[in-house]
Amino acid sequence: VVLIRNFTFTAVYILCFVAVNPSLVFSSTTTSLKTLQVHGNFTFERNEFASRDFGNRIHFLPSAVLHPVKVSDIASTIKHVWQMGPDSGLTIAARGHGHSLQGQAQALQGIVINMESLGLQEKMQVYSGKSLPYVDVSAGELWINVLRESLKHGLSPKSWTDYLHLTVGGTLSNAGISGQAFRHGPQISNVYQLEVVTGKGAVVVCSEEKNADLFHAVLGGLGQFGVITRARIPLEPAPKMVKWIRVLYSDFSTFTRDQEHLISAENTFDYIEGLAIVNRTGLVNNWRSSFNPEDPVRASQFVSDGRTLFCLELTKNFNPDEAADVDKEIKSLLSQLNYIPSTLFVTEVSYIDFLDRVHLAEHKLRSKGLWDIPHPWLNLLVPKSKMHVFAEGVFGKIVTDTNNGPVLVYPVNKSKWDNRTSFVTPDEDIFYVVAFLPHAVPSSTGENSLEYLLSVNQRILDFVEEADLGVKQYLPHYKSQEEWQRHFGSRWEVFARRKSDYDPLAILAPGQGIFQNPI
Ligand code: FAD
Repeated sequence: VVLIRNFTFTAVYILCFVAVNPSLVFSSTTTSLKTLQVHGNFTFERNEFASRDFGNRIHFLPSAVLHPVKVSDIASTIKHVWQMGPDSGLTIAARGHGHSLQGQAQALQGIVINMESLGLQEKMQVYSGKSLPYVDVSAGELWINVLRESLKHGLSPKSWTDYLHLTVGGTLSNAGISGQAFRHGPQISNVYQLEVVTGKGAVVVCSEEKNADLFHAVLGGLGQFGVITRARIPLEPAPKMVKWIRVLYSDFSTFTRDQEHLISAENTFDYIEGLAIVNRTGLVNNWRSSFNPEDPVRASQFVSDGRTLFCLELTKNFNPDEAADVDKEIKSLLSQLNYIPSTLFVTEVSYIDFLDRVHLAEHKLRSKGLWDIPHPWLNLLVPKSKMHVFAEGVFGKIVTDTNNGPVLVYPVNKSKWDNRTSFVTPDEDIFYVVAFLPHAVPSSTGENSLEYLLSVNQRILDFVEEADLGVKQYLPHYKSQEEWQRHFGSRWEVFARRKSDYDPLAILAPGQGIFQNPI
């Protein structure tokens, strides 16, 4: 009797101790991971790299990092955690290039999967001989490498992000939007097939035809339904060169009318974006990215003098033997627009230099110590019919200057988005991508400080909420499930059902903060 009583007491004591010392559970987890057979390896030391991201504000240390070399490494790790059951509390985050803004690729005391390690091992394969060429690529591969490899075959993916040092799996888990999206849709509209490891550790190949529900779930699925391990991306013939054009407007209505005209026209530019420029001096010499106008003297004569201006950014692709024709075509397209006549700035660069343009800006910012610092970015999707109210309320009133980071403004056609994916858009045929992309200067106390920039973001969010503009966040971040439900609206039910089908223990992508583990 004494023995049994002592045993019961000890068991209860251990249970209580574990409850108040979760680290005990995690140390037993690390022990169990050490026995798991993988081709790659786990690291267990303090993994600073896995607790960092581009946002540089959230830093959650994981218990372990998996560096997979085969898809089976990911499958057996997830299966292992799935088999531990709901009480383990253990979570797993796929980490692409870690360019999230608020810890979305982190897993506090969980396991982070370094997807780039898989990208290093799994060979990319371009199938160029087909009538519909494509590339099969590891989801841990960077888009810049996908471009380089495709170009060797004279081909290229169709839809991009502005910055290519992001992984295929990372952008497909969000959307992947840039100035080609008006025509081709976002990157999630440009995928033939995926290989996915679900939250139960099953490896599933999916497409429009096969396991279509999982295929649509993971596209824009914020990592909630599975880890994408491979993707089949359609390709098209790549041009060699790009004419890169910027023109300025002082009137917002004229700017958006021209943008909307261009994205709706049959014969138009290949890339259409735009920038809002508020209270900025030395405008032309201080433009974002690597844009160097052909006539720098004329360009330097134009100064913004603090006015709020809008810059339309366009490109037209061409091959050298088409140079004369492309100039004529551009002239004709520009003649339909109503920009300030003296503000036509043109340059010509290679296709790869254009697509990789933000990387050049990265070099410049790094050299000034302005890259590895907090980035309180805010990305919104605004319905076309509400853009004027939005612009009136935000540009010049809430955002009083754009000196420490660009503000992108450009429309896309909703018809190019697939509403079977997990991504939610505003409910109108045309909506605008509006991206506030500042960097917070360390130890600054004024308008470049993190606190100030966060307060600006909050004021913007409050404004769109109060004015009921039907705005959706892109790369969304919310603190409660109620807010997530509101974000998804009528699509929440499908989102939650897919979660319980594919990741019922809510093991995956805990950094998004949508579901608690266990659900
Ligand atoms: P991570 O930050 O590593 O991961 C993002 C999320 O996806 C996490 O929840 C993670 O768990 C999950 N995830 C990662 N890999 C996988 C996978 N294989 N399977 C399942 N889930 C996965 N976005 C645009 O649309 N257009 C732009 O023009 C654009 N420009 C940008 C420029 C810069 C400088 C930066 C920093 C970001 C930009 N983004 C842009 C945002 C970018 O697309 C997202 O932050 C994207 O998630 C980054 O990819 P990543 O590989 O770093 O993903």
